[in-house]
Amino acid sequence: MSHLFELPATASLPIADRSERFPVHRIYCIGRNYADHAREMGMTVDRAQPVFFLKPADAVVTDGADVPYPPATTDLHHEVEMVVALARGGRDIAVEHALAHVFGYGVGLDLTRRDLQAAAKKAGMPWDSAKAFDHSAPVSALHPAAIIGHPAHVELKLVVNGAVRQRTDIDAMVFNVAETIHELSKLWTLSPGDLIFTGTPAGVAALHRGDHFRATLGDIALLEGGMI
Ligand code: MN
Repeated sequence: MSHLFELPATASLPIADRSERFPVHRIYCIGRNYADHAREMGMTVDRAQPVFFLKPADAVVTDGADVPYPPATTDLHHEVEMVVALARGGRDIAVEHALAHVFGYGVGLDLTRRDLQAAAKKAGMPWDSAKAFDHSAPVSALHPAAIIGHPAHVELKLVVNGAVRQRTDIDAMVFNVAETIHELSKLWTLSPGDLIFTGTPAGVAALHRGDHFRATLGDIALLEGGMI
C-alpha cells in the first residue's frame, strides 16, 4: 500500500454460479451493428468500415446497483446490447478462431448522452463525452460459454417500466461476434478481461430518474435495475 495515493479499485463483473469475478480490462463497443438502428439514426451500415469506440473499464455498473443519472445531459438514452467477455487475447485473430477467445456472454446497456453525441457528430468531434462517462455501462453477470455455448439465435430485449422498448434476434447483427473480434484485433491487441458491447437494435429512447429497466438475452442473461 502506497502512502502517496490510494489504489483504485479494479472493475469486475460477477460470473453466474461462481464465486470468482471477471476482471474488466477494456470495454470495446461497436456502433451501427443492426441495420434498423443505423436507419433510425439516419445512418447506413458499411460492411467495410465497422464503427468502434471505447468506454473506461470502471464505467461498469454491476451486481444490481442503481444507475445514477449522469450530469451534463437532458437526453440520456438506453441501448440494449449483448456483451461478450474475452478469456484470451491476441492480434489479427482469424474469424474461424475468434469464438475460442470468448469466456462468456451477458447483457448490458450502452448508456449514451444523446444530446452530446448529436453535438459531437455535427461538429466532427469525438464521442467520448457522449459514451465514455461514469456509470455508462451497466452489465449483467457473465455466463460462461463452457456452459451455455455460443448463442447465435437469441432474443435480445429491453423492457422499461413494463413496456418493451427494444427487441431483436442477435442474428440480425451486421458483424457477428466472430467477425467483430476479428475486426477489433486488427486495430488493438485484445486481452483477457476485455468486454465487447455488440451493438443495439432499433428503439433507443430516453431514460429518466425513477425508471426501472429489465434487459434480457433470451433466458441466458438478465440485467435489472433502476435509475436514480
Ligand atoms: Mn451502442
